[in-house]
Amino acid sequence: MSKKMPITVAYGDGIGPEIMTPTLEILDAAGAEFDIETITIGEEMFKKGVMNGIDDSAWDSLFRTDAFLKAPITTPQGGGFKSLNVTVRKTMRMFANVRPCVSYHPFVKTTQPNMDMVIFRENEEDLYAGIEHRQTANVYQCLKLISETGSEKIIRYAFEYARSAGRKKVSCISKDNIMKMADGLFHRTFDRVAKDYPDLETDHWIVDIGAARIASRPEVFDVVVTENLYGDIISDIAAEVSGSVGLGGSSNIGEHGAMFEAIHGSAPDIAGQGIANPSGLIHGAILMLQHIGQGQVAEKIHNAWLKTIEDGVHTGDIYKEETSKHKVGTQDFAKALMERLGEKPEKFKPVSYGKASKKIELPKISLPKAADRKLVGVDIFVNWNESADANKLGDALSKTAVEGLKLEVISTKGLMMWPGSVNPVCESDHWCCRFTATGDNITHDHIIQQIQAVQGAGFDFVKTENLYHFGDQRGYSLAQGQ
Ligand code: NAD
Repeated sequence: MSKKMPITVAYGDGIGPEIMTPTLEILDAAGAEFDIETITIGEEMFKKGVMNGIDDSAWDSLFRTDAFLKAPITTPQGGGFKSLNVTVRKTMRMFANVRPCVSYHPFVKTTQPNMDMVIFRENEEDLYAGIEHRQTANVYQCLKLISETGSEKIIRYAFEYARSAGRKKVSCISKDNIMKMADGLFHRTFDRVAKDYPDLETDHWIVDIGAARIASRPEVFDVVVTENLYGDIISDIAAEVSGSVGLGGSSNIGEHGAMFEAIHGSAPDIAGQGIANPSGLIHGAILMLQHIGQGQVAEKIHNAWLKTIEDGVHTGDIYKEETSKHKVGTQDFAKALMERLGEKPEKFKPVSYGKASKKIELPKISLPKAADRKLVGVDIFVNWNESADANKLGDALSKTAVEGLKLEVISTKGLMMWPGSVNPVCESDHWCCRFTATGDNITHDHIIQQIQAVQGAGFDFVKTENLYHFGDQRGYSLAQGQ
């Protein structure tokens, strides 16, 4: 029986099969050793009515094998179909999306010749939990969830990678000047974890200026770690300014598996023409080889790829008369690369990967200790539009306060409207009415009675949120102007 490592392969949709076939040929020619299990996912499964594009036999393979090399998948528009990528990432707890962004100046046209950074994007939390509600005729809500354990996992992973890859600096990107609690937790966790890596430089960027700087001076970044949404945006900015959206690969690393892919999609506009650039998937495969301990094969393929690019053998997407010599299709690009296996680039710096697996083992990250948590009130959100004057709502709701609670403040979209607002008039149907404890001890019973009292006075409550103190820290934000 074969003792080779098992991996799962999906040929994908659109240009997927065209780029997967030569990628596997290159892996074979370079001496990669694994047994391939092929799964069918994506369009074919969506057409059979499998809503997330992946069936049980495919899951069996993914949970059994060491890595998943995946070509791009077409996501059907509408019809209630779910994104297969998000489903795989979340089901397999792939908390880290890792995307190296490199420019290949002067052989691939770019405005940023000195870019060489790796972006670590948190993959499971943030607004991508997809928890959304419509609460009133006017207002929709999408919850942003950030946890201490989720933040620590991705941050520690980025630091461990930086150390093992000989990188010098780790930069944190967040927006904690505005989201002081959720993004503040990510930033604070970064500062705490950084203390365990005194050999690495660190800095922090607010996402707006951080993204602008990645676009204008990416050479100031080395390793970047950030939350899900910011990571999604900045990794596309970085790929775009490197001049090579079609060239980049990425990995998704998790507790139950690791997935490797190109960063681009299934490119249906060029599918079947034999002109797609296979480089993104080849880079995904190079990351996979390092992950499964075949770094020397990864090195051989990567150096041959660099040599092919500097020799001016380019697919149409990067072909430019001034920098290219031969315009080739997908198969001929792969052939040119295979002819160069064993060669090193002369203009680019050759890469060197050790034999050891680049799999990073994190220590167990446990839930934080149960905190000293005290219930101190409740925010009751009401759907109310009888008047635009918050004073009327304040007067009516003050009278509903039950024993042990008082109406402290009313806000809409985070802005304080009552009491004593200089401008209490606002067209709104979504009001946050904060009732807080007058004494020391309130219980869930007080909250239930208060909700009943609000409802009993004829108000339509659409959501409630308990207010807690954790030790001496307030566990909720104040309204603007409060
Ligand atoms: P896309 O990346 O497929 O294409 C964008 C543009 O880049 C197109 O003009 C395309 O021709 C070109 N392009 C992409 N890859 C190329 C390559 N290897 N060589 C040459 N040119 C290339 O993005 P899109 O058009 O927005 O999405 C198409 C489909 O892919 C959608 O269904 C989308 O949901 C899906 N998608 C899948 C993944 C994934 O599986 N990881 C990622 C992104 C998009």
